[in-house]
Amino acid sequence: MSNKEAEKSTEAAPENPLADTRQLISPEIPNGVDRRSFLMRTAVGGAAAVLTGCSASPEEKTAKAVATATPAPQATPSAPPLAEDLYVAMKSKGPVLTTVDEFYKVGPGPSSSHTIGPMRITYDFYQRATKLPADQQAKATKLQVNLFGSLSATGKGHGTERAALAGLVGNEPATVDPKFLDGLRDKPDQVFPVKLGSKSIDVSLKDVIYDATKGDFKHPNTMTVKLLAGNDVLLEQEYYSVGGGFIEWKGYTPPKKNAPKYPFATMKELRTHADNNKTTIGKIMLANEMSITGKSEAEVYDWVDKVINAMVATVKSGLAMPEDDVLPGPIKLHSKAATVYKRAMDEKYQSDRGIGVLSAFALAASEENGRGHLVITAPTGGSAGVMPALVYGLLEVRKVDRQKVREGMLAAAAVGYLCKHHATLSAAEGGCQAEIGVASAMAAALTATVFDAPALVVENAAESALEHHLGMTCDPVAGYVQVPCIERCAFGAVKAWTAYAIASNEIASRHRVNFDETVVALAQTAKEMNSKYKETSEAGLALSVVLC
Ligand code: SF4
Repeated sequence: MSNKEAEKSTEAAPENPLADTRQLISPEIPNGVDRRSFLMRTAVGGAAAVLTGCSASPEEKTAKAVATATPAPQATPSAPPLAEDLYVAMKSKGPVLTTVDEFYKVGPGPSSSHTIGPMRITYDFYQRATKLPADQQAKATKLQVNLFGSLSATGKGHGTERAALAGLVGNEPATVDPKFLDGLRDKPDQVFPVKLGSKSIDVSLKDVIYDATKGDFKHPNTMTVKLLAGNDVLLEQEYYSVGGGFIEWKGYTPPKKNAPKYPFATMKELRTHADNNKTTIGKIMLANEMSITGKSEAEVYDWVDKVINAMVATVKSGLAMPEDDVLPGPIKLHSKAATVYKRAMDEKYQSDRGIGVLSAFALAASEENGRGHLVITAPTGGSAGVMPALVYGLLEVRKVDRQKVREGMLAAAAVGYLCKHHATLSAAEGGCQAEIGVASAMAAALTATVFDAPALVVENAAESALEHHLGMTCDPVAGYVQVPCIERCAFGAVKAWTAYAIASNEIASRHRVNFDETVVALAQTAKEMNSKYKETSEAGLALSVVLC
């Protein structure tokens, strides 16, 4: 019996589940809740339950609708603006100065902003605390982390509390053993000593507090870390996880850097440098990287190689997982990378095989992210399947020259830098367009560069991939970076390839929309997107999917 036949035989008896829609709607509207919003939510939740054959009780439907309905009298249509003094929100930042070792970060999944960022933050605080004078350290009795905004709303599904604790006890994201984080999930009561000079303070997950989800925060991903002596505060810092694993804190100023050889703040300026010097965007980025950091070419490529190798490793380890592996969390999502890969390899037609295996590579890396294993932010954890899929496909299947992939990684980074510079890489600020959309644009630039496309085609490919993700919301089911994230990485990878295919087969100068215009649209759409669709799990699939 085929899979399809087997599925059919277990389906419920055919009846029209929506014949009487009254059963979907809770009759009573609780106090303090907007009527229209409440009715819509009960209807969506009820319809999803009936259609999926998953029966939620009227009480459950009501509770969920109340929890997510717009509070009366009126909803806020979009998230409050970021505080203007955050570096990430500043209007005029001059030329792009981001470097590859800041951008491509290795760390535990599933989220760069909710896992790697908070871990970098608590590790930063840990280092500050270890540098306090000995008399201060001697007084310390407690370390405490408070999570706010989106970090509090969806942190549980992202393992934010485990990542925060791991950093607090002195683990760095790039080198932490994922087993340490798995161990915290399996045994959440563990207590760890933190050594501050001669003082030792016990910390556990109880010291990481899920605090207010709504409030007047400088950034949707805000957290505070404190070192206390009884009720007295010895050291306190307010931090922001601003997307892609980047962090800031109150009073943050970016580190001083050397000037880039070819300054640019737009794709047009970057492409003009490439054209005027009769070279590629990748080579311009290499020259800038060397002048900003003072590193040699070999040192820059050494880092890029580490990132490439880590991407290949994450696809390999994802494909090697058992076909029926179940990812952590309440969704009980079965992995599918290995199955999709095997079936794709059996396809008769090469083109079908190509799309199938590219999807499988993206699923493999993204499922590794869902497991909380080490991934590479490109630009984020949720989108960590897109770039590795193309890197793996080009290097391991097409066997292209590694040097081309290195240059492609630098061109892809330029795309990510520009999106960060003028818009956002944070789903809490801009929804999924800022994650998978940017990842797909980066992967399109990588692919075009690998196939020796001129700078304008690289730009057009990136533009096209980004354009067709505009408006994409972030609505992870149960707050876990699994649905829609894992499959979405596969679609982002395939769209990147499609964008390259279109860009390399059109007359480049006739491409009507330029990359900079699309980044402006990304920023504007991010600003106006309803906050429910910005990694809060309050709407979209997070609402309509019924877990049972
Ligand atoms: S829906 Fe997109 S932006 Fe949101 S967590 Fe998933 S991958 Fe990230």
